[in-house]
Amino acid sequence: MVKKQTGKKKAAAAVPAKSAAKKKTAGGSRKKVKVAPVADTALTLENVRENVRCRVCRVVDGYRAKESNCRFCGAKLFKEDVV
Ligand SMILES: [Zn+2]
Repeated sequence: MVKKQTGKKKAAAAVPAKSAAKKKTAGGSRKKVKVAPVADTALTLENVRENVRCRVCRVVDGYRAKESNCRFCGAKLFKEDVV
């Protein structure tokens, strides 16, 4: 009895996933898709990240110029601490 229930669940979940995948591949085969990733990697000053070591928790992470506080402990970050 238990086996029948799990079998039903799997079949029900597989049907919507398949129809969604078909739609994606149909549109994805076109070349227009390439445009989105290019905008993400644009090297503007705001997007450049520098590795800064926090003076309080000593964690090194990449921060943008806009970010002035450690994302782990909230302490202020200093440009002199760029690794
Ligand atoms: Zn910190």
